[in-house]
Amino acid sequence: MSKTWRPATQLVHDGSLRSQYGETSEAIYLTQGFVYESAEAAEARFKGETEGYIYARYGSPTNDMFEKRMCALEGAEEARATASGMAAVTAAILCQVKAGDHIVAARALFGSCRWVVETLAPKYGIECTLVDGRHLENWEKAIRPNTKVFFLESPTNPTLEVIDIAGVAKLANQIGAKVVVDNVFATPIFQKPLELGAHIVVYSATKHIDGQGRSLGGVILSDREWVNENLQDYYRHTGPAMSPFTAWTLLKGLETLPLRVKQQTENASKIADFLADQPKVAKVIYPGRNDHPQADIVAKQMKGGSTLVAIELKGGKEAAFALQNALQVVKISNNLGDAKSLITHPATTTHKNLTDEARAELGISGGTVRLSAGIEDTDDLIEDFAQALAKVNA
Ligand SMILES: *Cc1c(COP(=O)(O)O)cnc(C)c1O
Repeated sequence: MSKTWRPATQLVHDGSLRSQYGETSEAIYLTQGFVYESAEAAEARFKGETEGYIYARYGSPTNDMFEKRMCALEGAEEARATASGMAAVTAAILCQVKAGDHIVAARALFGSCRWVVETLAPKYGIECTLVDGRHLENWEKAIRPNTKVFFLESPTNPTLEVIDIAGVAKLANQIGAKVVVDNVFATPIFQKPLELGAHIVVYSATKHIDGQGRSLGGVILSDREWVNENLQDYYRHTGPAMSPFTAWTLLKGLETLPLRVKQQTENASKIADFLADQPKVAKVIYPGRNDHPQADIVAKQMKGGSTLVAIELKGGKEAAFALQNALQVVKISNNLGDAKSLITHPATTTHKNLTDEARAELGISGGTVRLSAGIEDTDDLIEDFAQALAKVNA
């Protein structure tokens, strides 16, 4: 496997483990266990003296292919595939902290991620401070002598705030803390947190990596030392492993990831530009537009815009619902990163569990909708928004 291949080539070929049958498409090894040629061979495998698989909770060939392909794309030494994005986030954070440690996290987090740091971690004596992650001084002010982990996503869900990853990593390095980046919204095509100084990257592979609404999955990527010292035992003994069947769907997903993300980003950017000029739209937030509040950081750390657009309608919740109900090509769904364009109303779905105050802090109002642009024809999507907006009473 060549490290010099560009992403589109890596994503088709890297990590492939071809069997003796020479299959073109990667094989699905649906097996929990492995047989050994002798008792001595089993002993040697368990001692780590010989290479090979032991049990699918630890690792297995189809998962291995997915993990290696992700490593090539991300520039990571090691990866572990998990059953969902949340299994990846939870493992990446909890495997490296203990009672008495402190986590600093951006307050703009995917709902379940926020629950893990804000509600779950404190039950085990791990303290957590949530900050407005857009300003580096807030991270700095939150640091305590026991701070071990910084956790963030960028761009954020759903209002597409951007956090200076290199800046946060610099602060973390000064105190020996680790930065975990949930890179779902940026995608591995457009943002490389490890190159920016982050230590651990996590994905919900359910989103762009599958991208076709089939599978739940996740992945954790980092350097070998961190994985061996922190994640390895946690992963093996708590059992968040991915099903080999899922790993196979995700390998297929990775093959077309750059094509899909490119088309989705182009669609998102054209829809953002179209909507920004519409009188019924109060505001469009899109990390590829010059009017994004942190356009300078976007330019510094992202190679492309985003497949998501946050839209605020002037007519509040009523207008947001009318728009969603009038759309025909775009479907109402809280998933994202899919080949199908999907729209959601965060205040009543993904972010309904937050307090009114927390929602206001994140810029989520009754009129906010989040669009995940799919791979459909751009003009069909724009025409769909035009006809739907016409039905909205401003
Ligand atoms: C979806 C998502 C998750 C959780 O992933 P699942 O695969 O649904 O468990 C975590 N973080 C972000 C940013 C997400 O969008």
